[in-house]
Order: sequence, then C-alpha cells, then structure tokens
Amino acid sequence: MAYDYDDTNIFARILRGEIPSTPLLETVHTLAFRDIAPQAPEHVLVIPKGRYVTYDHFFAEASDAEIVDFARAVAKVCAAIGAEAHSGGKGSRAITNAGEHGVQEVPHFHLHILAGRPIGRMISRD
Ligand code: 5GP
Repeated sequence: MAYDYDDTNIFARILRGEIPSTPLLETVHTLAFRDIAPQAPEHVLVIPKGRYVTYDHFFAEASDAEIVDFARAVAKVCAAIGAEAHSGGKGSRAITNAGEHGVQEVPHFHLHILAGRPIGRMISRD
C-alpha cells in the first residue's frame, strides 16, 4: 500500500516551525499541541514527527520506537490535562479521522484527545 504524504500540510509546517502552535509535550518522535479550534475544554492533538498520513499508515509502517514513543506521549498528555479515566479522573475521548469517509481535514496522522466535559455519544449518524 502506497501512501502519498503532502509535505505542505499544516502539521508538517508546524513540525518545521513555519507556523506556531501551543505545544504541550515534545519527544524524539512525537509532538502534542493544542487544537486551534477546541471542541472541548481540553483538545489536544498528538502527532508523530514522521511522514504518516493516517493511523493505519502509521501503525503499518512506523518503527517500533516511533509507535512506543507515540503511545507513551498519549498517556503523558492524558495525565498532563487531567484526563485519566482512573484515579478519580473523569476520562476523555481519543479520536483519529482517516481519509474521505473519516472526514480527515489534515493529511498528517493525528490523535485528538478531548476532555474536560462529557463528550457525548461516540458517533453521529449523518
Ligand atoms: P481532522 O478533521 O483532520 O481530524 O482534524 C484536524 C484538526 O486540526 C481540526 O480539529 C482543526 O481545528 C485542527 N487544526 C487545523 N489547522 C490547525 C492549525 O494551524 N493549528 C492547530 N493547532 N490546529 C489546527
């Protein structure tokens, strides 16, 4: 499976430092920053630094080190924003949109972490 990565996408530009973001956490392979149009009191995007279009692309082709780094970064973000679903925390929802049917706007794999209020039901039917 070939994935065409567009180097001009907005998250590639954030990674290159061409446009600003509000970072929460940066590791060797991963960056987490706040969504520019938050849909919850806490709305964080976690992205790999590598050139991956979607979650299936990332999980198919990223190295073990990139995948572990990404997963640990997600956990650290949840802790940082008080979104744990244990130890008294209220929890969160993690969403990743992929491709046309997933209604993906930015073609660089990103995980949305939404928290800080009840997030509602999982999907709409429209
Ligand atoms: P998607 O629909 O691709 O899953 O979500 C893309 C997300 O990126 C949207 O929630 C949108 O608000 C966010 N976004 C788009 N442009 C920017 C930007 O320049 N900076 C930040 N921080 N978020 C952005």
